[in-house]
Amino acid sequence: SKVLVSGVTGYIAAWVADSLLQKGYTVRGTVRSEEKGAQLAATFKERGFGSDKFEYVVVKDIAKNGAFDEAVKGVDAIEHVASPFHLKADDPQELIVPAVNGTVGILESALKYGPSVKRVVITSSCASVLRVDPKPIVFTEDDWNDQSIQVVEKDGRAAPNIAKYRASKTLAEKAAWEFVEKHKGEISWSLVAINPPFVFGPVIHPVADISSLNTSANDFIATVLTPDAGGKTDDALASQGSCWIDVRDLADAHRLALEKADAGGQRIIVSAEAYVWQDWLDAANSLSPPPDRPLPKGRPGAGKSAVHQIQYDTSKAQRILGLKYRTKEETLRDVLADLKVKGW
Ligand code: NDP
Repeated sequence: SKVLVSGVTGYIAAWVADSLLQKGYTVRGTVRSEEKGAQLAATFKERGFGSDKFEYVVVKDIAKNGAFDEAVKGVDAIEHVASPFHLKADDPQELIVPAVNGTVGILESALKYGPSVKRVVITSSCASVLRVDPKPIVFTEDDWNDQSIQVVEKDGRAAPNIAKYRASKTLAEKAAWEFVEKHKGEISWSLVAINPPFVFGPVIHPVADISSLNTSANDFIATVLTPDAGGKTDDALASQGSCWIDVRDLADAHRLALEKADAGGQRIIVSAEAYVWQDWLDAANSLSPPPDRPLPKGRPGAGKSAVHQIQYDTSKAQRILGLKYRTKEETLRDVLADLKVKGW
């Protein structure tokens, strides 16, 4: 069957397409840039998937009314991944408009022009689950990040950039569930939201150079695999972190969200584990054979006593998707090999 993947030239979406192709699906990706679309098609060709398996269509502006009307025609399922993820927006609407309109727009197109669509999966985020709190919290799918929406409503342009991004993801996911509620009598498909924390792992999407990498992979390489640890102090390395998932596990979660009947109507948090950066440094420094790349050391072992402010209950993902998560060592080895091939 045929699956539409929006924003297929992005970090996560390219792996979502790969996971689908590996399991025999045909993929139609939407791209903003014809040039990047052609580059990704060449990558998939090298991986054994020619134009009979992978095609791309140009959708220049996902926020525009009817942007996906043509793209949804004839597909059996949709993976909506496209959404801006950067921390450089001055005006919060720069993130909120494409996030919300892109999501509602693709659902509207599916309703109008996608009679064969059975399932729509959207890439939400733990950004739409968590909140900042003085005490450590284990979050579940019942938690919603209304806090970031309130901060952005109150402070507008002056709000922290991370709050602007988190608000865009929370508003987009809320809008998706509202759309489903409003149109439940008319739609042929069920919705799944996948909520990942930070996503790390190798890169298959077209990237001109290391400085144009997406936010999470960039942060990972800068902190874990660059001698100055991205400028972070030893104290910061020992105390700062979050939760993470390997990009390929996340891609499989997106595919499984299409395949598992029980996933319909669910938001699902997928997360391997909590970390502080020092844990990654220690894992990288104990790889065997040792990487031939100078690595930061930090204060070995200092992460062991860290308090993890944010953790997630991932039992729903376990029950419905049955995911297996890669370990830090597996992810590190593959990222290091990837960097070598790319000459970064
Ligand atoms: P990328 O920046 O690599 O991908 C973003 C994708 O969205 C690209 O396809 C990009 O298109 C497209 N896009 C960005 N801005 C716009 C816009 N204004 N209009 C239209 N399309 C746009 O990042 P990721 O792969 O990491 O992010 C993909 C999704 O995953 C996002 O929804 C993000 O919120 C979510 N996510 C990411 C996490 C992470 O740690 N990486 C964690 C949790 C959720 P183009 O290729 O043309 O630039």
